[in-house]
Amino acid sequence: MRQLLENGEQSAEENVSRFLTNIEAQNDTLHAFTQVYTDAALKRAAEVDQKIKAGRGGKLAGAVIGIKEAIVQRGEKATAGSRMLENFESVYDATAVRRLLDEDAIIIGRMNMDEFAMGSSTENSAFGPTRNPHDTERVPGGSSGGSAAAVAADMCHATLGSDTGGSIRQPASFCGVTGLRPTYGRVSRYGLIAYASSFDSIGPLTRTVEDAGLILEVLAGHDVHDATSSAREVEDYAQAAGQSVEGLRIGLPEEYFGDGLEAETGKLVRKRIEELEARGAIVVPLTLPHTKVAIATYYILATAEASSNLARYDGIRYGHRADQKKVAQDLAAEKKAIQDAGGDISELDSALIRLYKQSRTEGFGTEVKRRIMLGTYVLSAGYYDAYYGKAQRIRRLIQNDFIQAFNKCDVIVSPTSPGTAFRIGEKTDDPLQMYLSDIYTISANLAGIPAISVPAGKHATDGLPVGIQFMAPHFAEKQLIRAAAAVERLVRGAD
Ligand code: GLN
Repeated sequence: MRQLLENGEQSAEENVSRFLTNIEAQNDTLHAFTQVYTDAALKRAAEVDQKIKAGRGGKLAGAVIGIKEAIVQRGEKATAGSRMLENFESVYDATAVRRLLDEDAIIIGRMNMDEFAMGSSTENSAFGPTRNPHDTERVPGGSSGGSAAAVAADMCHATLGSDTGGSIRQPASFCGVTGLRPTYGRVSRYGLIAYASSFDSIGPLTRTVEDAGLILEVLAGHDVHDATSSAREVEDYAQAAGQSVEGLRIGLPEEYFGDGLEAETGKLVRKRIEELEARGAIVVPLTLPHTKVAIATYYILATAEASSNLARYDGIRYGHRADQKKVAQDLAAEKKAIQDAGGDISELDSALIRLYKQSRTEGFGTEVKRRIMLGTYVLSAGYYDAYYGKAQRIRRLIQNDFIQAFNKCDVIVSPTSPGTAFRIGEKTDDPLQMYLSDIYTISANLAGIPAISVPAGKHATDGLPVGIQFMAPHFAEKQLIRAAAAVERLVRGAD
């Protein structure tokens, strides 16, 4: 596309118009976009066209990109999929957004997500679910479901998502696109509405592996606004897409191919691994023994961090505020009733506490409340050591599993998810089933390592996309791109 733009065979304006037509035709059904910047995107496209013509186009000149609702942009609403932030408008740009704009990308709108990125299906969005473009009765995955669906349905070139336990990779897998979660600290989190700060990362969802590398090159790098961002040099990630897998050592963890993996999904992933082997990759069987406790560990640590991060939504400084007058009136009426009956009102909350409670009761959805309660519990005096402290120590053991494994291999391969996209409503009544759909993605976040999901092909019986995941040592994103691009060539029949 970049070449076509430079040769004048295409214009950014035409591209934006085409995407807007696609959005108009499909978004009522899919609900991938929560906001579409129709006029602003067209205007910016015209400006970018001028820049390209003048030979001054940046690295992403003309790339049309959608942004997950959790990543803020100046002057635009950022809801994080929550009623709590329904009317919240950001006064600054997330660093990730700033960097895209600095390289002349065109931002076309904002993408639906599970509320505060808690979920695996986008059904937890306060604004209604997103549907999977491959089968609209099915979920697109989550929490970056809108980001994945939009790329799959050709509504933009790429999107940004965020990944705390799999939220870029699992939806990418369900929708048949590529999703890259960078090493923790590779991309600044400044302007990402926090869920679990020691796990959160921003990354791209794209049509090709090379695109994912290219966008990562733009996003990555140190940022004074995020103390956890790394000063390590940014590499030529995209270039690694052209490298062969000859000699690449691919670790095969037995725990990721056992019970719980749907048979045809496993078969297709194994087939791709054999094909990589036939092209010179070396398959190394290995074990990650703490995999079985990864989900439990994650749901203690992530909810603990969430309960702390979400404490800021008090309805006073910003976010949803309940009807203050009504809260005060109700309290007065309650007091009077108790006093009339000769009761004691000293235990009643103050009007301010009532307002906090009512605002949070109205602003947060069920899953978010569940997690705030879980997280508050595991951090509470008396339970802290038994839950939070223990989970922290297990997190270290999980990291050690990976460090050991990477002594023997360059990347680790697995399915991205135990099965293909499930039906809307199928797992909403059973949080544990929903949590289990992240079983293969969550460990990378616990260890802070990078991982990518790339389409492996279509499932033999349901015809839905199946994703294959690669994980790599800290900051070895190039190896991910190299391995994933090889799978991409196989799927496209280009190798
Ligand atoms: N599905 C996982 C959760 O609900 C991961 C979400 C994410 O990566 N943001 O916590």
